Amino acid sequence: MKILVVEDERKLGQFIQKGLQEAAYTATLVGTCAAAEDALAESHYDAIVLDIGLPDGSGLDVLRRWRQSGFSEPVVILSARGQVDDRITGLNLGADDYLPKPFSFDELLARLRSLLRRESKQKRTRYEHAGIGMDLLSRKVTAAGQPVDLTGREFALLELFLANPGRVLTRTQIAERIWETSFDSETNLIDVYVKKLRTKLPNGTDGTPLIRTVRGTGYVLP
Ligand code: CA
Repeated sequence: MKILVVEDERKLGQFIQKGLQEAAYTATLVGTCAAAEDALAESHYDAIVLDIGLPDGSGLDVLRRWRQSGFSEPVVILSARGQVDDRITGLNLGADDYLPKPFSFDELLARLRSLLRRESKQKRTRYEHAGIGMDLLSRKVTAAGQPVDLTGREFALLELFLANPGRVLTRTQIAERIWETSFDSETNLIDVYVKKLRTKLPNGTDGTPLIRTVRGTGYVLP
C-alpha cells in the first residue's frame, strides 16, 4: 500500500516516512502543496498524511481540490496549530482524521491502519497465490502456512508480484512502483532484492524459484 506524506518539516517528514517504510508501507515524502498535487496526479495513493502549514499554501486547500476531483482515499491532517478551527475545517473538507502536533508515530500508525481497514472493507485485503498468503492489513506473509519475515521493501516487492500474477514486470516498472524512482535499469538493486525475497520464499513444486527471471526483461510470478 502506498502512502503520500506531505510535510515540509524535513526531519518530521523523514521520520514519518521511515516509520511507515518500517511498517511495510511504500511512503513518498513531499514538502509543498505543488509537489503533493503533482504526486497525486501521477500516481495512486491508498492514504495521505497531510500537513496544513506548507510553504506554498495551506494543506486544506489541497485537500479541498482533491476531494472535489473525486479522490476518496483516507486523509489524515497534521497541524502544529492544533486549533479547533483547523480541525473542523479539515473534517468538513473531507479529512478522515486529525492529529495535532506533536504526536507519537504509533498514534499516527494506529489511526492510518484503522482508516485503511475501514476503507478496505470493499477492497482487496489479502492475496493468496502459489502457496503464499499476504494480509495487507496486518502486513503478515505466510508461505505454505508458515510465517515469513520480510522487510518493508521486500513486502512491497512481493505485493507487486502478487497484484500482477502472470505479468512480466520490467526492472523499470519495479523501480517506479517500489522505489518511487526510475533509475538506470542496469543497476542490480532490483536483482538483489528479488534474490533476497527468493531466499525467504520456498521454491515452486518443480524446485525452481517462485519468482522467475525473464531474461533481458525482468521478473514474473507465474
Ligand atoms: Ca508545516
